[in-house]
Amino acid sequence: FSEISVKDIDDLAKSSFPLCMRHLFEKLREDHHLKHGGRMQLGLFLKVGAERFDKEYAYSIRHNYGREGKRTDYTPYSCQKVISSTPGVGDHHGCPYRHFSEENLRAALNKMGVNSRAVEDIMNKVQNRHYQLACTLTFEAVHNSSCDAGINHPNQYFSDSQKILQ
Ligand code: SF4
Repeated sequence: FSEISVKDIDDLAKSSFPLCMRHLFEKLREDHHLKHGGRMQLGLFLKVGAERFDKEYAYSIRHNYGREGKRTDYTPYSCQKVISSTPGVGDHHGCPYRHFSEENLRAALNKMGVNSRAVEDIMNKVQNRHYQLACTLTFEAVHNSSCDAGINHPNQYFSDSQKILQ
């Protein structure tokens, strides 16, 4: 592994993480802590999705969940699993398209640089409970590229993004 700076990681998170993981990552940076559900969701994503994160973050996250859960299944969560989770107060895991308030979701999309017309299309999908389609439209807006297969896994979002950007 080559040394990578925190800034490199932040840049990669901003350019290629789906909103669910981007949000968790931001909270981890802000609070230096995530509750169990968030550590699991982000830790498993990082382990498979981005080996280069190991040195800075994934190790400590994995270390934590290893101690807590004696978990043997390290399969990263699919969208379906993330969407069906039930984050409580103070939790940051889950799917923002399903679990954020409309106001917070709009703010998050603006921060990602999604244009206002695309935001309306995305909110429309959310209202119809098509969360993965909303995420697909977000992907298309921020990459200015189509995603015909649709988004069904956070790690797929990451790898498809990297394919476009590299
Ligand atoms: Fe994450 Fe999937 Fe929700 Fe997109 S649709 S934010 S990848 S859980």
